[in-house]
Amino acid sequence: MTLDYNSLLLALGFSGACLAVTLVMSWAVARTELFLLTWAVGVFLIVVYVVLYAIYVDYPGPLLGAVCYLTLLTGLSALLGAARQFRTGRSPLRPAIIANAILIIIAVPPILMGYDGLGFIAENIAAAILLSATAREYWLGRAEAPGPILGLSALYAAIAFGFLLCAGVLIWNGKLVLGAAPQNWAEDVSLIISIAGMTGIGALSLALNHWRAAGRHRAEARSDVLTGLLNRRAIFDLCSPTPMRQFSAVIAFDLDDFKAVNDSYGHAVGDEVIRAFAEELAAATGRDDRAARLGGEEFVLVLGRTLPDRAEQLAERIRASFAARSIGADQGAFSCTVSAGIAFGTEAGASFESVLKLADKALYSAKSKGRNQVATRHVRLVK
Ligand code: GH3
Ligand code: MG
Ligand code: MG
Repeated sequence: MTLDYNSLLLALGFSGACLAVTLVMSWAVARTELFLLTWAVGVFLIVVYVVLYAIYVDYPGPLLGAVCYLTLLTGLSALLGAARQFRTGRSPLRPAIIANAILIIIAVPPILMGYDGLGFIAENIAAAILLSATAREYWLGRAEAPGPILGLSALYAAIAFGFLLCAGVLIWNGKLVLGAAPQNWAEDVSLIISIAGMTGIGALSLALNHWRAAGRHRAEARSDVLTGLLNRRAIFDLCSPTPMRQFSAVIAFDLDDFKAVNDSYGHAVGDEVIRAFAEELAAATGRDDRAARLGGEEFVLVLGRTLPDRAEQLAERIRASFAARSIGADQGAFSCTVSAGIAFGTEAGASFESVLKLADKALYSAKSKGRNQVATRHVRLVK
């Protein structure tokens, strides 16, 4: 079986069209992922380019040549914009428009003036630049999902290399005017790389989309909806496996007379108070610490590295700054207090559950002593 150039173009157009549809469908189920839409626009423009170029192969002319060039570069600029949007979350328009404008100003005039050889060299180099810049964007964002992102980066780089080969052969031949679409081994190689690359990019883009969705679900399953802190399950998952040694501590917090807050001001204001306390807790959480809402108006702060005095000072600071906080309600502003209980890890290592239980006991004694205070449960160190 022999494949002519137009059959290869048809294959590229078909795989591109499938990819564009897949990307739009992926976007439809995850509408926050706007980069999928930008990506689909880019791929769609490249499909249009492939169709136009197939016509150009049979009916070459400067105007159609210029339109092909514009469509290809706009499509590739959109792919670059999508990559930037994927990595940074920012709008794709700026990089896409700037890249496109520069490359068009350079290459459209020679094509329109009939120097199509020069125009094709410029087109191939411009495409290689855009594709390399796209590969670079993925390379920079590889930390999120190294497997699929490095794969994408490599595929864009490979397609860029194909375009560079085409430019190289045209420069080598040195013809400024061709009068027809360039036909040489580099064109065939580049087209085959593009077909394989497009299919691979389609598969990886789907994998990446799933990866992101799964990551989002994992984060959602770990966080408390009302406060954004870790939830009960997450803090136990994180802290249970490692024994708590000396210089680690658990501070258990429970808002005081919270039922009365709900009764006096309503559940919505109660929620506001819970959020306000969570803000205090989050502000006091250091790099080695973890803050969680265990449920209701109960919170926990796990300190990875601390001295007993510093844990007490921290709990006291949180208590005081929450008590000083004014909370707005229809009936007028009011304030609320919190009690805290502290317990420490041991030299031999104690389970998170057992330290939390001791912190709860300390909390209970803070409550029974009148609330709005911090109590500490000291443990004898095991020698
Ligand atoms: P104490 O000082 O002894 O802790 O008294 P308390 O009233 O805070 O304790 P209690 O356990 O009797 O009441 C806790 C209340 O917290 C009861 C429940 O209605 C309320 N609550 C639990 N979860 C939420 C929530 O998500 N939002 C709001 N607004 N209230 C909640
Ligand atoms: Mg409670
Ligand atoms: Mg309470």
